Amino acid sequence: MSGTLFNKVAFIGLGLIGSSLARVMLQEHLATTIVASTRSKKTLQDALELGLITEGFSDPVEAVKNADLVVLALPVRATQKVLEMIQPYLSENVIITDVGSTKGNVVEAAKAVFGETLPAGFVPGHPIAGAEHTGVHAGKVDLFANHKVILTPLPSSSPLAVSKLTQMWQAAKAEVICMDVEKHDEVLAHTSHLPHLMAFNLVEQLANREDNLDIFRYAAGGFRDFSRIAASDPQMWHDIFFANKKAILNAVDGFEHQLKILRQLIEDENSQALMGLLGHAQAARQHFNHMLAKKPLMEKNKVTQQFTILPGNKTFKGKFTVPGDKSVSHRSIMFGAIAEGTTHVTGFLEGEDALATLQAFRTMGVSIEGPKNGEVTIHGVGMHGLKAPTGALYMGNSGTSMRLLSGLLSAQAFDSVMTGDASLSKRPMERIAKPLREMGAQIQTTGEKGTPPVSITGEQKLQGIHYDLPMASAQVKSGILLAGLWAAGETSVTEPEPTRDHTERMLRAFGYDVKTEGNRISLQGGGKLTATAIQVPSDISSAAFFMVGAAITEGSDVVLEAVGVNPTRTGVIEILKQMGADLTVENERIAGGEPIADIHIKGTRTLKGIHMPEDQVPLAIDEFPALFIAAACAEGQTILTGAAELRVKESDRIQVMADGLKILGVECTPTDDGIIIEGKGKAGDWSAIFGGGEIESHHDHRIAMSFSMAGLRNTGEIVITGTETVATSFPTFTQLANQAGLSIHVNED
Ligand code: NAP
Repeated sequence: MSGTLFNKVAFIGLGLIGSSLARVMLQEHLATTIVASTRSKKTLQDALELGLITEGFSDPVEAVKNADLVVLALPVRATQKVLEMIQPYLSENVIITDVGSTKGNVVEAAKAVFGETLPAGFVPGHPIAGAEHTGVHAGKVDLFANHKVILTPLPSSSPLAVSKLTQMWQAAKAEVICMDVEKHDEVLAHTSHLPHLMAFNLVEQLANREDNLDIFRYAAGGFRDFSRIAASDPQMWHDIFFANKKAILNAVDGFEHQLKILRQLIEDENSQALMGLLGHAQAARQHFNHMLAKKPLMEKNKVTQQFTILPGNKTFKGKFTVPGDKSVSHRSIMFGAIAEGTTHVTGFLEGEDALATLQAFRTMGVSIEGPKNGEVTIHGVGMHGLKAPTGALYMGNSGTSMRLLSGLLSAQAFDSVMTGDASLSKRPMERIAKPLREMGAQIQTTGEKGTPPVSITGEQKLQGIHYDLPMASAQVKSGILLAGLWAAGETSVTEPEPTRDHTERMLRAFGYDVKTEGNRISLQGGGKLTATAIQVPSDISSAAFFMVGAAITEGSDVVLEAVGVNPTRTGVIEILKQMGADLTVENERIAGGEPIADIHIKGTRTLKGIHMPEDQVPLAIDEFPALFIAAACAEGQTILTGAAELRVKESDRIQVMADGLKILGVECTPTDDGIIIEGKGKAGDWSAIFGGGEIESHHDHRIAMSFSMAGLRNTGEIVITGTETVATSFPTFTQLANQAGLSIHVNED
């Protein structure tokens, strides 16, 4: 229940949309009195019987008297006439809104009535929700739930009016977005009006055929899906097509242009380009899928999934391939795209971040097939073959994409803009923009505090520089080196301490000469990359959970295949070995410039507590939550120092792990930069270490996966909440863990 926002609300028009909103107002007690005016007496009668209104009027003038909110919920073409009638009778501080599907013409109608200075209470709106059926009986209280409502405040609109309307729509469980009027009409022309126009048109085209009966009789599901919206109200769409004429005609022109391109590719039997186009469209649909889904993929702070692990003797055995390394996946696309020839990638991590990179290069004209089961084929366009993107490049949540591409795009012949989601939009971009400017790039961070969007003006001649990195950052280093590929002369970077060197290694795999002398990395601009095959190594961070699981389980025998063992990442192996784990690194080889190996772990001996070596901390930073579980099972005390960074990861990993360990009966003391864990293990004793209880993962995937491993040595039921984030980094986690012998039950809301 939300509470009263308005005293008297007057609906002018009370069909599908108006009556749905009235139902919300009643349920949530948003208004003291609700009245309405409609064309027909029958609608008013029905609304009274449904209990939606307390009074109904044929004359809108009667309805709006003393109302503090007027909602125009009628066809947009009637707006001007109704406003003319009610204008003299509106209360002084009245808020006026509408629900029309077009906004420019509603504002024009208001200006025709009120003059150029519109009332402060006038805030047009548009709920992006509907149904094929209209009328007062078609209304539903949940029509707007999990849908968007666009408000288009005008310069004259008062913040109070916008705020109250926002609260009103939020009470309807809608997500409120503010947009300017022109943008609204343009966006809707493309995403709603054009699809409706196409659906009407296709059905019309087929209906006009002589064999129409057969066509409709045998039509497959695709036709049903595509043509569903052609069953909408013709009068309403007639009105919308005229009301938003200019933007719709633009959208139709764009459609015709694209259709011609597609037609030509088929006529020419241009297989590669057709695959490129269809693949690009399919990937775009998948990439933006979560935006199209009614329910946001991961509502912040909303717990929708939990793991439950029962006690009992468990084994932990098998050969597994965990998902590919994210850092390497990103780079395989970037370098494959600017290389000459065709690059084939295997083990690609199909997570949202790496897909954002992939999508960006497709948008810049690179033909990319896949990903399918981790395989991607990139038809490289060479150092000068990228094309100007038609719109902003959306990087989602991926800082790697945005920082690395800042360097690459600064050197292109075209302008570009990169945007990101809410979280990426808060991350600092000046740290990469500054050195790029020194190279001659024209790059702006147009967010408030040196944050995204990033805007780049092309056609700059870049000059190689030497840059002393003020902080250890593989992303900044890589962004500079990428720009250096096109810069005149030498570009070099010195880092305060070694960071991940995936960029250097992969550039070399693509035949580009990169020198590493101590902490100084350099390359000469003006070379070229030659396509190659890239096997993305399995991510050692994901493998770490299975290493720990095997190390703490009696008789376990686990092989993790083709894991990346880049020396900048192998702290977890070193630390587990120091703790006495029976761990061997086998079959070491090089793939795509990266060292990979199979990691074999057996549960043959009890781990022992150690003071974790500080020089290994940066090399194992993501693996500590899993290592804490190992420490709890070790004999004696484990001390971690020099790991303050753990407190500012996806969660405060020191505190969250300490809280969880305590719940499971393990003594530990968090410190400023680490933790002290009192290991409960005893040499040769494999009995349970952990009790049971409910662990909050704080939506941190690594916390959730680490505590899952505690389920190999527990006496009580372990429940881990907020595990939905696991799927984004390690989609096969529960499947593989259960294959190994850990029975995780997944419960979804
Ligand atoms: P609806 O169910 O047909 O209801 C329209 C209401 O407006 C009816 O109560 C009707 O009165 C009244 N009305 C019609 N012409 C009028 C006039 N000249 N003067 C006074 N009242 C009049 O339509 P709706 O689906 O609710 O659509 C209302 C608005 O919402 C439209 O502007 C539409 O663009 C917008 N919208 C619709 C959808 C959708 O999917 N339907 C989605 C988003 C936005 P009677 O009941 O007496 O006929």
